[in-house]
Amino acid sequence: MNPWIGIIRYLVSFIATVAIRAPHANQSGKLAIVTRRKGAIEIALLALMRLGVLVLPLLAIFTSLLSFADYPLHPAVFSLGVMCTCGWLWLFYRSHADLGRNWSATLEIREGHQLVTSGLYRLVRHPMYVAIFLGAIDQALLIPNWIGGPSCLVAFVLMFVLRVNIEEQMMSDKFGDTYVDYMNGTKRLVPYVW
Ligand code: SAH
Repeated sequence: MNPWIGIIRYLVSFIATVAIRAPHANQSGKLAIVTRRKGAIEIALLALMRLGVLVLPLLAIFTSLLSFADYPLHPAVFSLGVMCTCGWLWLFYRSHADLGRNWSATLEIREGHQLVTSGLYRLVRHPMYVAIFLGAIDQALLIPNWIGGPSCLVAFVLMFVLRVNIEEQMMSDKFGDTYVDYMNGTKRLVPYVW
């Protein structure tokens, strides 16, 4: 199968994520930051994500630097990627819509920050991370290169593991028992399971 079919699909979904996120980044950027947990680990993780989502895939696609790790794109793998894309782009869009002005790219509490417990947040505490997990799997399926394909998945697993406790601690410091009750009534990623 022509590898460019998968690559173009990856590029289209990447552009879709930027378009979904841009209005939220613009909106929350105007609000003053009240609390920020952006230590050395968070800075390193954000850089790693940029490498995994953008730098390595683009190097794999547009240069021959990583061509030693290319493999043929299989139609079955491509079809799995198509199903995955529809699901995660919808989740990505809905979680941004539910979080509204409370979204930020890093661990921050902004002026007038409200705890969201409705929409997807009624089911799980981290629906946006579910979307990013699925998006990372999608990238691995669509870019037929052993480095540029799974790079986002590797970066995001690390980011999730190292970030989620700090984020939940920040939220319970801000919202106290309300957040603790919310934690007790929801799972992190998979409704009713985990
Ligand atoms: N972890 C969430 C949100 C990711 S965006 C998810 O996966 O859906 C990161 C920012 O969202 C954090 O800085 C935090 O301030 C904010 N946040 C996380 N959960 C929230 C909630 N339930 N209500 C309001 N803001 C939340």
